[in-house]
Amino acid sequence: MGNTCKNQQEAAASCPASGKRQGDVPNDSLDMFLEQERLDGRMGRIRHKIIVLSGKGGVGKSTFAANLAVSLSMAGKKVGLLDVDIHGPSIPKMLKLDDSRIGATDGAIHPVDKGGMKVLSIGFLLRDRDDAVIWRGPMKANVIKQFLMDVEWGELDYLVIDSPPGTGDEPLSVCQLLKNPDGAVVVTTPQDVAVADVRKSINFCRQLEIPVLGVVENMSGFVCPKCGELTQIFKTGGGELMAKEMKVPFLGRIPVDPAIGEACDSGNPFIYYSKTETAKAFERAIEPILALSERDENL
Ligand code: ADP
Repeated sequence: MGNTCKNQQEAAASCPASGKRQGDVPNDSLDMFLEQERLDGRMGRIRHKIIVLSGKGGVGKSTFAANLAVSLSMAGKKVGLLDVDIHGPSIPKMLKLDDSRIGATDGAIHPVDKGGMKVLSIGFLLRDRDDAVIWRGPMKANVIKQFLMDVEWGELDYLVIDSPPGTGDEPLSVCQLLKNPDGAVVVTTPQDVAVADVRKSINFCRQLEIPVLGVVENMSGFVCPKCGELTQIFKTGGGELMAKEMKVPFLGRIPVDPAIGEACDSGNPFIYYSKTETAKAFERAIEPILALSERDENL
């Protein structure tokens, strides 16, 4: 056909047969540009973005994220809660939204409303709550991107993001897509093994230039459901010591409290109805995050 273009890229950029001229923006770049515009537009309407991270699963990251979001909402803030813990989305269960499904109109995904709070979870996409998510890396990154870019979050004071655990591709996608988040809260348990992983989470934040808002030591001691006494069943203080060593704020200890497990299982966030010492520990941990928007009001 007399096509002198040497390769596909060159063809896209300058071949007359392709209908493009040198200097035109190739389609891929245009798509990326438009996506970035959409993402910036949505994220620009959210004042504070908080990422909840953990070095490993099962330490109470989702429990903290749910209680943080509920307590900010109870303080009168406009809040969104995004659960991108792809392999263990527990937010639907913790907020009694198991049967909720998301809708979409005009190219925008609508989050589920929970008493004024906007909630979106990977769990809402699963047909059955016992389905496993078997997606390859790029697909997971795309879903995370879509949840930030195509969701009608509207104007929010806070978006709380329950990130996948660890320091792999998925938390990396979350952190890279959220331009200028306010910071990350890192949840750990007091044992050395968990604390070692948290050091990695803190270094991960540092490499990505994300401020660490603080470390929460969860499951630190046990509150007796009968007498309310706190007993140190495991070694305690590991999270606090590590926070000091790594020069990041320590947000406090939350004991193992059977009421938290029950609250999570029954879909009633703990803070919502409890005034126990454990609930107060949650509230203390959350204070610096609430202060972010209170600072806005004083500006
Ligand atoms: P992660 O998100 O880190 O995987 P989850 O928040 O899903 O962990 O918590 C795992 C389990 O531990 C849940 O059943 C939750 O109810 C329970 N849990 C979390 N924190 C506490 C606590 N302080 N006391 C009692 N149970 C807790």
